[in-house]
Amino acid sequence: MKIFQCPQCSHPVYFENTLCLKCGSSLGFLGSRQEMILIDGNSYAADPNYRYCSNYYQNACNWMVRKDDPIELCQACNLNRTIPDLSIPEHVGKWQKLEVAKHRLVYSLLKLNVDLNAANNSRVPGLAFDFLSHHSGNQHKKVMTGYLNGLITINLDEADNVHREYIREKFSEPYRTLIGHFRHETGHYFWEKIIRENDQKLSQFRWLFGDDTQDYNQALQAYYNRKAGFQWQHQYISEYASSHPLEDWAETWAHYLHVMDTLETAFYFGMVLQPKLDDNASMSMSSDFDPYTEKDFKRIIDAWLPMTYAVNSINRSMGLQDLYPFVISEQVLNKLKFVHESLFEFRL
Ligand SMILES: [Zn+2]
Ligand SMILES: [Zn+2]
Ligand SMILES: [Zn+2]
Repeated sequence: MKIFQCPQCSHPVYFENTLCLKCGSSLGFLGSRQEMILIDGNSYAADPNYRYCSNYYQNACNWMVRKDDPIELCQACNLNRTIPDLSIPEHVGKWQKLEVAKHRLVYSLLKLNVDLNAANNSRVPGLAFDFLSHHSGNQHKKVMTGYLNGLITINLDEADNVHREYIREKFSEPYRTLIGHFRHETGHYFWEKIIRENDQKLSQFRWLFGDDTQDYNQALQAYYNRKAGFQWQHQYISEYASSHPLEDWAETWAHYLHVMDTLETAFYFGMVLQPKLDDNASMSMSSDFDPYTEKDFKRIIDAWLPMTYAVNSINRSMGLQDLYPFVISEQVLNKLKFVHESLFEFRL
């Protein structure tokens, strides 16, 4: 993600900030320009045409809406179909965490310039979100995080760090985050939009990822019954990706978005790596390009690999787990390249 600045004093501010910590100005994010604007009435630079999205008053959004827009929600919040019952106190904090992740996702999708609405003549409806808790009133119902027909459902419990870490350990996942869920589930949405609607893409997809028509429940059952020791690393970015070709695509897609967002951050920080090695050719990189505008996937991946080694080394210095607990095999590289090129053709 890019580095934002306070328009009043130029101090750097985070994407989620509503206030500049240096000069005290009130700030909001403007999706259409992808920058922070001032909303202080007394500042010469403040834009009088905008107000906060109504979810700002729930501490769940800092995006701006035009004052003359009849819709009170910003373009990110307007994708919500269901939000949790906020009269239950523990729902509020969890929902706010989901919104942080979702807003970062929507930022990437804006950068990618992809249409989130239903297209004419398409079987795929527009993108929407249900954030559900299995506690609603006295009733208990099972909520599964997943995707169906444009609708992404996220189980509110995923925003509970203890719960998420428990699941992560239980299923031996090296990486499980809220933003990872959002990226994964949108992968299913864009598969329908980019791949399923295009015969040529679909056959390329099947050649690389496998047959998407294979029975979903059977494939997942086989995956959960599989004995430990299955060698998935060669072909897949994660073990879960090996469960079904559509899960493989969604995992690869999510991974692609991780790479893009992180490299964009590196670009805005002007990161350069010149490691002190006898031969550093393959481990050097310079973030001198915005990955969102880069057509050549090789350039992206050539910058990415040295960076992952550097950030993992930094984390290890802090006694933390690897920031990037993945290995990209040749096969996975081809899949990521396919995601990049398919998406590039699809972008507006
Ligand atoms: Zn400021
Ligand atoms: Zn909003
Ligand atoms: Zn999935």
